[in-house]
Amino acid sequence: MPEPVPIVTRFAPSPNGPLHLGHALSAIVAYDLARAGGGRFLLRIEDIDGPRSRPELADEFRRDLEWLGLEWDEVPAQSTRLGSYAAAAEALKARGLLYPCICTRKQIEAAGAIAGSDGLIYPGTCKHTPPESARGAAWRLDAAAALAATGAINWEDDLAGTIPIDLTQLGDVVLVRKDLPASYHLAVTLDDAADSVTLVTRGADLFAATHVHRTLQELLGLPVPRWHHHALLTDDTGQKLAKRRGSPALAERRLANEDGRMLAEQLRLQHLRLGT
Ligand code: GLU
Repeated sequence: MPEPVPIVTRFAPSPNGPLHLGHALSAIVAYDLARAGGGRFLLRIEDIDGPRSRPELADEFRRDLEWLGLEWDEVPAQSTRLGSYAAAAEALKARGLLYPCICTRKQIEAAGAIAGSDGLIYPGTCKHTPPESARGAAWRLDAAAALAATGAINWEDDLAGTIPIDLTQLGDVVLVRKDLPASYHLAVTLDDAADSVTLVTRGADLFAATHVHRTLQELLGLPVPRWHHHALLTDDTGQKLAKRRGSPALAERRLANEDGRMLAEQLRLQHLRLGT
């Protein structure tokens, strides 16, 4: 009998703002699932957010996780992996699966873009832009071409079950930013494969993005993990926790000498109550 593949989960924060309770829950869910399966829990710093990225926050993140009582193996940060993103983007371009886009956000709004599950759905204005006008452009996934290449495929969520791919939820997403060789979608998909992640755990706010990631795995011949999108913590008004709405940073609570392990236990209980 083949050896069962050990479970590998990860927490992949972006250092563009401090961690808050929602991040703590994501890290704890990933850590506990890895522990329960006798596997590994990884930390990956997703530091390719251009000027929004503040590398000094990564150290704060490590201190926050330690304070919560978590242990991890750290894998290389995204900024060290740009070459692999560029290579994958070239492979997709060569197959005609990406097209250059020079639209600004204002132009996209003015073109009557409709709202999708994660912002506006690109109305396809640049779809027939010839690649020679690509200087300084972003590159978008041609969702229709991608679907024709993959055919009907599914992904598996621990909680939601088998999900058929639906690329209409996000539309033709950017895979290569104007200023970087990748966007979140391309980088995270390549990194999870490179880090041998077998169970991608993250908040339910990223559920729709998984359609794109599963598609990229199929197009690039990458291994396919399982997913576990956990319910989000909300504040008293039912809104997702966010620093801008006053959710306290973990670092503030840590520096105020709150007990991090106790907080982690409370979050575990709250998570049990959410039923996911
Ligand atoms: N860097 C992303 C974030 O902080 C990670 C998302 C993911 O887990 O895929 O939202």
